[in-house]
Formats: sequence, C-alpha cells, structure tokens
Amino acid sequence: MRYHDTHFHLDLMPNPEGIAEKIEQNKVYTIAVTNSPTVFFYTEKISLNKRFLRPALGLHPELAFERQNEIDQFIKLLPKAKYIGEIGLDNFKKSPENFKTQKLVFEKIIEACDKEGGKILTIHSRKAEKEVLNIIGDKFSGKIILHWYSGSLRELDRAISIGAYFSINHSMTKSKNGQKIIERIPLNKLLIETDGPFTSLNSKPFIPTSVDIILDSLVRLKSNHENSDIVRERILKNFYDLINVN
Ligand SMILES: [Zn+2]
Repeated sequence: MRYHDTHFHLDLMPNPEGIAEKIEQNKVYTIAVTNSPTVFFYTEKISLNKRFLRPALGLHPELAFERQNEIDQFIKLLPKAKYIGEIGLDNFKKSPENFKTQKLVFEKIIEACDKEGGKILTIHSRKAEKEVLNIIGDKFSGKIILHWYSGSLRELDRAISIGAYFSINHSMTKSKNGQKIIERIPLNKLLIETDGPFTSLNSKPFIPTSVDIILDSLVRLKSNHENSDIVRERILKNFYDLINVN
C-alpha cells in the first residue's frame, strides 16, 4: 500500500514543481492544501496529469478576516474541487471581531460543501475545536479530517463520534499532549500529514517523501511487538477508505 500525506502546503515551498515530481516518482498520495482561492489555480495547474498529487481549495482561518471577500470566488470554484482545505477556525490571539468573521466564512464553506456532498475536508481547529464541531454538526455529507488536532479529549471524543479522521504530523508524535491524543484515536481514523513547511526535521521543511518517519513513530505509539505490521497496513489503508478506492 502507498504512503500518503493529507496536509501539505506545496505552494509555500521554494520549489513546488520539483517537489511535485518527487511526489510522483515516490508515489505518495498528497493532498496539497492552499490558503486562498486566488492561489488555488497555481497548485491545480501543477497537479494536472499527476496521479498522486491532489489539489485542495482553501481559505485559511488566519486569512479569512482580511480575505473575507474571496468567499464568493471560493463558492464559485467549489464544484471543481473534491478536496477542500485549508479551512477552519483559529482563536489563538484573535480579536472577537476577527473570530466572528472566521465563523461566518467557515459556516458558508461548510454549508456549501454539505450541499454538494462528497467533499474531503482538511480542517484547522486551534483553540476553536468546539466551534468547529458545532458548525460541522453531526450530519455532514462529506468526509472530515481534523489536521494537527490539539484540543481537549472531550472535544476529541465528540469528533470521533461524528466519524472524523485525524491527520498526525511529526510534532504531534513527539509531544506529550500529541501522544495522549494519538492514543485515544481509533486506529481506523488515523492519517499522516507533514504540514510542511510548518514542520521540519533537522531544520529542513517536512515534505511528503519523508512521511515514513511519521508513520514509524505512529506505528510505535499504536502497537505492541506482535501487531506492528498490521497497525502499519491499517493506517495506510485508511487513506484508501477516505478516498474510496481499493
Ligand atoms: Zn497547514
């Protein structure tokens, strides 16, 4: 089974086209998230005729306030995008006004995605897990991936109960809080992400061709000696379940 990276910022890397080639050569399924609809075209163009690279239409919560006008363009582009992200909410050091606008934007995105159906969403929820889950509700018609989840175990349980997936990066596997979260997530809901260039290894940004390092840590955290191969296969299979191919 192939490796995957469900949250990678290809367009923020120094050499996106070179990395796209590497992704194809190494056959790592990669969801290339974008931070606003105006930059989606670039990633979409690079992804043309690529089997493993999947462009995602996004409007990052930390840009939602200043770019709230781009929501119309987002909605217009939605029918051509199966993958959606990076979207969500961020309430870390934000003004009430800023957070309020983020919620309006996120609500519109969720409503539009729900109406179309079949979308795969990669969602940011820092300091706003409860609000993110409230807006998604429990009858959403697509698939949800909570990326770099760092909230409470209580909200984690709620996210698990609505069938969310969780993408795990290197930083999470190394932190105490991240490990506590990983321990609680069912094996069939775990996915791998790099979130490069926002995470790095030996001061080099993480890229999809290094996901094996994250997978190894994750397998160590989720298995005992006897079942590590089964755990590894299960985590890789989760991506195929997510996108519905075998
Ligand atoms: Zn990100």
